[in-house]
Amino acid sequence: MTDFRALRLHQTDTSAPDVKIERLTKDDLSIGNVLIANEFSSLNYKDALAVTGKGKIIRDFPMIPGIDAAGVVLESSDPSFHEGEHVILTGHGVGETHTGGMSEQVRVPGSYLVKTPQALDSKKAMQFGTGGLTGMLCVLAVLDAGLKPADGPIAVSGAGGGVGGIATTVLSTLGYEVHAITGRESEHARLKELGATEILNRADFARDPKPLESTRFAGAIDTVGGQVLATLIPQIMYNGVIAATGNAGGFQFSTTVFPFILRNIRLQGVDSVHAPTEIRERAWQLLSENVTTDQLDGSTRTIGLDQVVDTAEQLINNEVSGRILIDVRA
Ligand code: NDP
Repeated sequence: MTDFRALRLHQTDTSAPDVKIERLTKDDLSIGNVLIANEFSSLNYKDALAVTGKGKIIRDFPMIPGIDAAGVVLESSDPSFHEGEHVILTGHGVGETHTGGMSEQVRVPGSYLVKTPQALDSKKAMQFGTGGLTGMLCVLAVLDAGLKPADGPIAVSGAGGGVGGIATTVLSTLGYEVHAITGRESEHARLKELGATEILNRADFARDPKPLESTRFAGAIDTVGGQVLATLIPQIMYNGVIAATGNAGGFQFSTTVFPFILRNIRLQGVDSVHAPTEIRERAWQLLSENVTTDQLDGSTRTIGLDQVVDTAEQLINNEVSGRILIDVRA
């Protein structure tokens, strides 16, 4: 049986797992009816929590982390996928409960996959990765709520991160005025390049808000939660929507019902893990049509499996900007 290289996490007595790059066979992979020759994965916040042990993401060891992957079908008994087709894998517990993307081979049920849109290849797909898919799903929440560019600016929090950066890029490409919220001055120039019209300081959102404040955003995409989300809500205009997707800034949440009752504000959760196939396909298609990866090249760093641990530490310490692509064959 042919073997391949993968990064695997082993349980230890401490919260930090033992991380090894090993040669494995198909038998070491979780079950599924599609086997993929993986080309690229990406490093997301959840992967960084898993690899460093800073979050309780992995419960069954040993585990191959990596919540996404893109490659070519090697074997398939799923009638929707054929040998040689390019596919993208995200969510469904991959890299958490099902062996994941930090491996040269990946095996999953076909229902976890979408076909790679024509305009993308595996590298470009993972330049977007789960962060890009999630950013696009948040933008879809804004579009589907009927908010138009003329309605007013859209705030994006955690804009310096993977999800926030893609949301900023897509919204500005679609003609929206984006007010990017970041805690890092070093991100200002890059966010302007991605299309942000205003840069706002995260510290101004780390306060106890009033139940209702002057409104200044038609909507918001929030990737940090906590106090930032609570402070955004009373500043959203009548009929606005907030797509909330992350909790890098905390998971506690305190607000009043006033913005929801008096301004008809809608708070919509966005979770790429459970997004149905049709919505994921639509999001990938829109990403491929509206954003060229050239726009992201400057803020994408490519690493090999041997650099995952160090880069995960940097990501947890908020020292990474943009997207981290993992070339699993390097
Ligand atoms: P990144 O680490 O790339 O970005 C997170 C950003 O949040 C940072 O760049 C920083 O932005 C900001 N941030 C970090 N720490 C804090 C803090 N203590 N308080 C406030 N803001 C902070 O992560 P991703 O973009 O990959 O993910 C963002 C969030 O979205 C995470 O919580 C992640 O778990 C979640 N997520 C959810 C998905 C889903 O399907 N539900 C999928 C993917 C991600 P800046 O420096 O600009 O202030």
